[in-house]
Amino acid sequence: MFGRRIGVDLGTANVLVYVKGRGVVINEPSVVAVAQRDNTIVAVGNDAREMLGRTPGAIQVIRPMRDGVIADYLTTEAMLRYFIGKITGRFSLIKPEVMVCVPAGVTGVEQRAVQDACEAAGARRPANVVPEPLAAAIGARIPVAAPHGHMIVDIGGGRTEAAVISMYGIVVSESVRVAGDRLDEAITNYVKRRHNLLIGERTAEELKIAIGSAVPMEEDLTYSVRGRDQITGLPKTVTVTSIEVCQAMQDALQAIIGAIRSVLERTPPELASDVVDRGIVLTGGGALLRNIDRLITQEIGIPCYIADNPTDCVAIGAGIALEHLDLIKRARPPEGEWFASF
Ligand code: ADP
Ligand code: MG
Repeated sequence: MFGRRIGVDLGTANVLVYVKGRGVVINEPSVVAVAQRDNTIVAVGNDAREMLGRTPGAIQVIRPMRDGVIADYLTTEAMLRYFIGKITGRFSLIKPEVMVCVPAGVTGVEQRAVQDACEAAGARRPANVVPEPLAAAIGARIPVAAPHGHMIVDIGGGRTEAAVISMYGIVVSESVRVAGDRLDEAITNYVKRRHNLLIGERTAEELKIAIGSAVPMEEDLTYSVRGRDQITGLPKTVTVTSIEVCQAMQDALQAIIGAIRSVLERTPPELASDVVDRGIVLTGGGALLRNIDRLITQEIGIPCYIADNPTDCVAIGAGIALEHLDLIKRARPPEGEWFASF
């Protein structure tokens, strides 16, 4: 029956739900609109995102996940209940078996909070967790069972996670709080400095997606954005070029490169040599930035590839991971952080 086994990618920017036999059925922004007066939920996901920056004071639009972990527990739970309910039907008596991802570096407490939120939202107990890089690798169809090193880099909204994986285990990982959001911020700051124009976060993201490139492109694209002139205080339209966006993003991109480098430096030689042979695989929404693969190949000197459907990998991988629970548990170290209460 459908809806019984599901994989959840609880991201800072987007929540995706994969249902075995049906594929990714939910892909919505992790945004919730809450009425201040009595804390009731006004809207979740796409509907709530439409309200970002446009609500009256009495309604607040919240992103309940920050840096890959839960920042606002009750809102996260409500959001999960809404999404899980969409799949199972609100009055279903059969609770779905859930696998949810957590960042590789989370603490036991943070992980427990994610499990609790899933269970409170209707998942069968215990809600299972899988480290995000492993889910990403499985979803990217990397043969993670083999005793070979594979490097996966997931660039999301709030966080970039780089990891080397072998035999269902994470050998080395590094997580930095620099990813898509930081690129948007860098663009906002650049436009403010260079054009005296204040733009919102959605406009900055639009610029990044429309004309952004990690390395300078031969063809310089342009894009017009509207914002508020810092000097006159009035609305103004400015044309921005992709070279400018590329420049604006360089520092943040270097921080992402730094995380990859740091993982490679700590990877045991046999596995590092596998990575050199097999290349680096990119997942997450940030993998869609133009030429990000080229920048990484240039800077690290190892070929870099973008996974098919990079934004879906974590959810798909989490769903598939439900079938390999034993192998995943076997690969966990005897004590540590993210699996403390597995
Ligand atoms: P999370 O796992 O944190 O929820 P996602 O993997 O969904 O994040 O990625 C979201 C990020 O990907 C956002 O910062 C978004 O701007 C970025 N993104 C999505 N599409 C593109 C694109 N075509 N080019 C560049 N960045 C993109
Ligand atoms: Mg993600």
